Amino acid sequence: MIIKSAEYLISSPEWEKCPVPNMPEFAFIGRSNVGKSSLINVLANNEKLAKTSGTPGKTQLINHFVINKAWYLVDLPGYGFAKVSHSQRKKWEQMIENYLRKRENLMHVFVLIDSRHTPQKLDLDFISQLGQWNIPFSLVFTKADKNSQAETSRNVKAFLNKMRETWQFLPASFITSTVKKTGRDAILEFIDEMNAQ
Ligand code: GDP
Repeated sequence: MIIKSAEYLISSPEWEKCPVPNMPEFAFIGRSNVGKSSLINVLANNEKLAKTSGTPGKTQLINHFVINKAWYLVDLPGYGFAKVSHSQRKKWEQMIENYLRKRENLMHVFVLIDSRHTPQKLDLDFISQLGQWNIPFSLVFTKADKNSQAETSRNVKAFLNKMRETWQFLPASFITSTVKKTGRDAILEFIDEMNAQ
């Protein structure tokens, strides 16, 4: 897919305030600091589209971008930020659950996982929740340039093996580096295919 245009549209505090669902939508989510804004900027070919966050976890908004005037790219607020209060976390959970389960044009969720780490409970819990809600998703292992290839593939394998314990089928997965632009074309191609269906 060639990116001809990428525009910020709106930030919404809840799913009801999201734009009219008149185009297919692809959402990105993951732990705070996983590299979500950086990845969105690389995908959209625009370094400044999503803010790379200095103060993670502060804004709990659903951010819509319009790509090629044909589909929405959605930047969802990250999870697992330690300094967020219990009530803020509850609010986040409710907002995310509503968005994920009710947004009718949501085609697919990309769950970002930091490839430098061994499988984390927080990520595994989140994806099992997605499974319970029957939401189609794939995994994006980020920051691959920060480790050796061997270490990255060890962590990816460990994550997928952990999933095998409870999942019958494994989702698609991508390995990305925003520094090297690894994985960009594969993700855009994947979105293209889903848009063509
Ligand atoms: P977000 O909180 O998930 O939106 O994460 P950001 O995109 O703000 O990234 C968090 C930090 O990780 C920033 O300092 C980024 O520059 C860095 N980062 C993100 N992706 C990569 C990557 O692929 N490689 C490297 N080396 N650093 C990355």
